[in-house]
Amino acid sequence: MSHNGNGRVPFVDLVALHREIQGELLDVFKTTLETAGFIGGPVVESFEREFAEYCGVDCCVGVGSGTDALRFALMAAGVGLGDIALTVPLTFVATTEAISQAGARPAFVDVDPRTCTMDPLELQRYLETQCELDSRTGQCFHRALRRPVTAIVPVHLYGQTADMDPILALAEHYNLTVIEDACQAHGAEYFSKKDNQWRKGGSMGHAAAFSFYPGKNLGACGEGGAVTTNDGEIAKKIRTLRDHGQSKKYYHDVEGYNGRLDSIQAGILSVKLCHLSEWNTKRRQAAQRYDQLFSSTPGVVTPALPEWSRAVYHLYVIRVHDRDGLQRHLSKANIETGIHYPVPLHLQKAYDGLGYRAGDFPVSEAVASEILSLPMYPQLQAAQQRRIVDEVNDFIVDGGVLGSPALLTRIE
Ligand SMILES: *Cc1c(COP(=O)(O)O)cnc(C)c1O
Repeated sequence: MSHNGNGRVPFVDLVALHREIQGELLDVFKTTLETAGFIGGPVVESFEREFAEYCGVDCCVGVGSGTDALRFALMAAGVGLGDIALTVPLTFVATTEAISQAGARPAFVDVDPRTCTMDPLELQRYLETQCELDSRTGQCFHRALRRPVTAIVPVHLYGQTADMDPILALAEHYNLTVIEDACQAHGAEYFSKKDNQWRKGGSMGHAAAFSFYPGKNLGACGEGGAVTTNDGEIAKKIRTLRDHGQSKKYYHDVEGYNGRLDSIQAGILSVKLCHLSEWNTKRRQAAQRYDQLFSSTPGVVTPALPEWSRAVYHLYVIRVHDRDGLQRHLSKANIETGIHYPVPLHLQKAYDGLGYRAGDFPVSEAVASEILSLPMYPQLQAAQQRRIVDEVNDFIVDGGVLGSPALLTRIE
């Protein structure tokens, strides 16, 4: 056994990150206190312009959270009461909460076993076998549920985009709106063969949702979110929705929400956006280091990086046979880990009513039992990573816990 000390390794280290830029952050508070412009105003508008430019889109609308961003994007794109919106079971519950809160019904297609993002072949199978196109209206209908299918919400999980070309092609053929859940993918890129260029996550669908929850690659010091889009009409509707449906003060065109991005958070996000590329580069370097360190460990599957992907590693997720045992072992060694996510959404109690059963999405279910998220943040040190990998080796190799779970063999 070789140990580089046994100091605690946190799962994320926001303290270290904020220490690096403390002066700039304190200036934001000070300026805001001196102008007392807490809600809306020029600070929010400049962050919106900066983030739109970063993502390569025409419009960005700051909102109160990633969940707000998803809900408003769906509503503004016309997804509504009684519609079906397709997404994946392996995501954070906010994806489906937003679909339901927009009045629609979530339905699932399974993920690709290599990337853990929406499997375009499963999407195609769903549309071909369960839906039909109304030849008169061009609308896609679910045959058994007799409801219109109107949207796809691919999730750019762990900082890697979904395989968007085939998803967008299916969406076009079936007249579906695509809302990207880019809440974990600030700065991730996808090589579109169709466009013959790299595209940023959040610039490919009709609209996309970002979260600025503190632990995300770009995080506020509180709650925040944004919608990005090239569609000026969608952006305009969201500006109304986030502010009680007002077109001007106290003139309410529709019932809306209190879903604004406040100016202290916008100022903080502007400061942090200047560092995002550098932080993402450090995450990529840390991911490469993990990949190398694990290259001689049998029984550990490291994240796949398809040739079309430049991931930003919001999370570094490995797959192993005895995941729970490994997590306990690391916890005893003072190494914090996470599971994203332990229960696929179709098996959550909250979605009993949708009528799914265990076995309906075998890849998501297998993945959920094997995944473990290791510490990952720009300030993560090489020595900390070596200690983490040493501990994983101690458990797997020395402990003889190799195993050959169904999924691990299937994705060789
Ligand atoms: C974080 C996250 C959200 C929700 O964002 P909030 O800002 O917490 O509302 C939605 N989807 C995914 C995939 C996320 O990771």
